[in-house]
Amino acid sequence: MNRMGRKDARIAVSGIAEGIESIRAELVRAIEKAGRAPAEVELVAVSKGHDAEKVRAAIETGQLLFGESKVQEARAKIPMLPSQSRWHFIGHLQKNKVRHALPLFELIHSVDSLELAKEIDRVGTDEGCFPRVLLQVNVAGEASKYGFDGQALIASMEQLLQLSRLSIEGLMTIPPLTESAEKSRVYFIQLRSLRDELEKTFGIKLPQLSMGMSGDFLVAVEEGATLVRVGTAIFGERSRKIIV
Ligand SMILES: *Cc1c(COP(=O)(O)O)cnc(C)c1O
Repeated sequence: MNRMGRKDARIAVSGIAEGIESIRAELVRAIEKAGRAPAEVELVAVSKGHDAEKVRAAIETGQLLFGESKVQEARAKIPMLPSQSRWHFIGHLQKNKVRHALPLFELIHSVDSLELAKEIDRVGTDEGCFPRVLLQVNVAGEASKYGFDGQALIASMEQLLQLSRLSIEGLMTIPPLTESAEKSRVYFIQLRSLRDELEKTFGIKLPQLSMGMSGDFLVAVEEGATLVRVGTAIFGERSRKIIV
């Protein structure tokens, strides 16, 4: 119960149950308002920067799907938690961490280069598994962000589809940070349009759209998100250090 006393930990834990239930309620309302079915959108509770006790509190409310963005932190945290929990990787994945990441995560949202895709395919072949992935798109072309440029992704798609171990299930994006959720909408529409174009051009199915975070997940749902990644609105502010 690192650094926290028992009482503080209990307070943190009760806050999480409330946080998660209110986010779930908001999410369901938004899904219904958008004329979609609740089963079409899954909540990824982003637990990076929060300790295993907080995740356990979320699991007790019935939340089983979590997102982590650092392999080192996840390798320490995940084994401490009940085996029915499910994990998605959402951060920048270094090639030398792929081997550690694959057994921990059922889906990698953040394949941001052809080189990384090739490495995941190679490790998948070695390990006899078929990694499920999303391709991360840098929709606004920000220098500070990882991800494929939209046009570059179209150009690389043929090569990506030749990686026979990879199960490419959709696209993911992190739009520029803005003060208003409404400003993210244009980027969510861009991601969905790129998905539609890829499906049409290559005759493939890319059903997953991972978009929307604490500040803008309701808008993302309106624009077709199938996975929303919500951290702060559930768990509160996080520690910037790697935490278990
Ligand atoms: C941290 C993170 C999130 C969660 O962000 P919040 O604003 O805390 O909800 C979502 N997606 C990615 C890729 C992240 O790194």
